[in-house]
Amino acid sequence: RGEIENRSKSGRYYWVDTSIVPFRGADGAIEQFIAVQTDITDAKRQEHDLVLARERAEEANRAKSMFLANMSHEIRTPMNAVLGFSELLIESGLEGERLEFLRAIQNSGNILIDVINEILDVTKIESGEEKVCLGEVNLIETVNQICDVFSAQATEKGITLERGFHRSARCLIKTDEVKLKKILTNLIGNAVKFTHEGSVSVKVSIENLTPSEHRLRINVKDTGIGIDQTNLQRVFRKFTQADSSHSRQYGGTGLGLSICKGLVSLLGGDISVKSEPGSGSIFKIDIPVERIAFKAPERTLDSALPETKRFDAKALIAEDNEANQFLVLTMLEALGLHCEIVEDGSEAVECVARNAYDVVFMDIHMPVMDGFEATRRIREEEARRGGEGVIIIAITAKAMKGDRERCMEAQMDDYIPKPFSKEALRFMLAKHLSVETDRLS
Ligand code: ADP
Repeated sequence: RGEIENRSKSGRYYWVDTSIVPFRGADGAIEQFIAVQTDITDAKRQEHDLVLARERAEEANRAKSMFLANMSHEIRTPMNAVLGFSELLIESGLEGERLEFLRAIQNSGNILIDVINEILDVTKIESGEEKVCLGEVNLIETVNQICDVFSAQATEKGITLERGFHRSARCLIKTDEVKLKKILTNLIGNAVKFTHEGSVSVKVSIENLTPSEHRLRINVKDTGIGIDQTNLQRVFRKFTQADSSHSRQYGGTGLGLSICKGLVSLLGGDISVKSEPGSGSIFKIDIPVERIAFKAPERTLDSALPETKRFDAKALIAEDNEANQFLVLTMLEALGLHCEIVEDGSEAVECVARNAYDVVFMDIHMPVMDGFEATRRIREEEARRGGEGVIIIAITAKAMKGDRERCMEAQMDDYIPKPFSKEALRFMLAKHLSVETDRLS
């Protein structure tokens, strides 16, 4: 059976669908056959017309997107001059009504630029022009940069903007930084915009699916106005707002979330939302990333470190001596740390496998399993899981020559000889806990 294009005697081209039924002789060879031919020219023409129509529609869509992209570009250049000169005029010392008029021009200009930028983003995503550009990104730094942009606005509204970094986030990742920043800007910007009391919290972690497969998870949660169920899925559509009054009350184009969705899917990830009107919303993104482990650069010890410096971090103390347990606990708690205590190395290994700590203070000489062996096992487990290493600081009674080397060999991060002061602990923490850990909430 097959489709063949034929030419009739009159020169007309036509398509036939030919089915052949063979009749075989005793030796199996075909002796006779019946061929049934159906004229399928009309069906073929329709198929061809449909393909052509689809190609034309796609071409038209591409042309529309290109047009919008070019227009947005063309509008932005003169807008730059409009905004720039209004700023210069404002600074030139105008007063009264004239100043008000200028401020109105400037505000409207800024809104227009935002709209144009969003249209440009949408058209670039739709036309397939938006390409993924992977690079090494310091995750915590990037999230902090975006949060910093909104922190003044949040304070002004009387809401708190909290950030929480799981220790797995203490790393470099390979992703598209510009896109990640745009996504976060939209989500955090919306959360601050639609929240009038309470808080916005941004939680960041990296999930290990397998040692080589990692996913970046960021939750942006707010205690704002929320979205009702009927509008919940619609908010990802272009030019859609959950309530028709929102554009008047809060501004915006209804493009931000559709851009987020487009960018997240370009990065191969998912975006989802849960919300309760009156209680708040939580937007979650989940993006596959390559994780590049790194050790946070050691901070230079600043002798001017403020006395009041407190560390909002979680510590595990592995120490068998009761008096010493109490001493380290009291000192660390005074420095702001939340602590748990175990009495030997094998308990420390179990605890680290079960819970997330920012730092482990590991006594070297302990019953059942000593600090060297416990550290070796913890590092083995971390390597197996492909996770970031917890900071392990050895505590040892003998400040013997070579102790430091042995601790480093066992892959501990540092070493603190007994007896030690609270000050020594404070410097040790300042040296190893990254700035971000201080902000962990
Ligand atoms: P825009 O904010 O420019 O209107 P978006 O696409 O970012 O556009 O959001 C679409 C709509 O989704 C918003 O107008 C608002 O109705 C709703 N929305 C988005 N984020 C939140 C949030 N955190 N809380 C409540 N409503 C939200």
